[in-house]
Amino acid sequence: MLPTVTLKRGREKPVRLRHPWIFSGAIARSPAVEPGTIVEVRDTQGTFLARGYFNPTSQIRVRLLTWDEAEPIDTAFWRRRLVASCARRGGLAADAGTTAYRLVSAEADLLPGLIVDRYGDWLVVQALTAGIEVRLDELATQLEELLAPRGIYERSDEAVREREGLPLRVGPLAGEPPPAAGVEIRENGLGFFVDLISGHKTGFYLDQRENRELVGTYARGRRVLNCFSYTGGFSVAAAAAGAARVISVDSSEPALQLAERNLALNGLGDRPNDTLLPGNVFEVLRGFRTEERRFDLIVLDPPKFAHSAGQVEAACRGYKDINLLAFQLLEVGGYLATFSCSGLVSADLFQKVVFGAALDAGAEVQILRRLSQTPDHPVLLSFPESAYLKGLLCQKILEV
Ligand code: SAH
Repeated sequence: MLPTVTLKRGREKPVRLRHPWIFSGAIARSPAVEPGTIVEVRDTQGTFLARGYFNPTSQIRVRLLTWDEAEPIDTAFWRRRLVASCARRGGLAADAGTTAYRLVSAEADLLPGLIVDRYGDWLVVQALTAGIEVRLDELATQLEELLAPRGIYERSDEAVREREGLPLRVGPLAGEPPPAAGVEIRENGLGFFVDLISGHKTGFYLDQRENRELVGTYARGRRVLNCFSYTGGFSVAAAAAGAARVISVDSSEPALQLAERNLALNGLGDRPNDTLLPGNVFEVLRGFRTEERRFDLIVLDPPKFAHSAGQVEAACRGYKDINLLAFQLLEVGGYLATFSCSGLVSADLFQKVVFGAALDAGAEVQILRRLSQTPDHPVLLSFPESAYLKGLLCQKILEV
């Protein structure tokens, strides 16, 4: 029999609802085992509830893998889950215009703690938990057998690993290391260089793919301001769609250098009115307001502002500030695509903040679309935490 975690009386409900996390506070007795060990979870009567991997260091003591007592967690289990997750991306794999997407999205794909992204011939993996960490070589071997990539690169440098008692680690796991100059991928028919070694996350914000395409459809002939542009995802989409001008603002110089290469890669390198502007968006927007600059399409895609519940209020002040400035810079009839990737800020709360910003900016605003993450970053119903990216496509229809 496997080591057993016994829950406190009355704490089995989330497990029965198939939520994959068991917090330390729900546990009555746990075994003395190494991080990553497979355990069984039972109620006080000893009834089997689920099976998962254990980490005594993490507040999330167990991440559940199966609720089926007859399903062992063995090599065949991991293989089945990997195969199924990759197979769910079949539609994307068949689209020659897009060669970069998420193959495994951790809990939401029933593989807690594991991220696998495909960038052309390379895979990038993140092991976010001890349970994945101890099996990473086995999982990498399986990914090699399944997908035959040119190389697998590890980007286990997310700060959440520290809460699991794991060090940050980056480096090649299998095959060839990716080129330092960047891997060339395609997204919606456009080309991008992605820095797999030191870019953000695993290199590219794959969760915004559909929103970039959507913004492109509004960009023709418009003066576009892309705030928090990173390597130019929205900028390339807007310029390729025939925007009159595109200003990209980011505080990271390497990101803007890559944005420049990405515009050039798509034959958009010599548009005289486009600008790559290094700077702090909060300050740049204030400067533009002083100069009475006007735009027809603004994108606000900031980094995560709220990393813990205690930061939600300050995050909302940040969101309100930039959205207020954006509404002031928008021409009547202009569009704002505004996002939050803070999981702790709900879609409802975000909409309220954007409303407050519009009121204070003297703008009457319509929501044309509610936006979210791409389907290769799915939301598992039993794990609502997997819904993190929310956005609104707004139109300013009056100045009041
Ligand atoms: N929209 C991008 C992703 C944005 S990620 C895309 O489609 O790829 C957030 C970006 O904001 C990062 O590139 C980071 O360098 C930048 N950033 C963070 N804080 C900033 C600030 N105060 N001013 C300007 N850029 C900032």
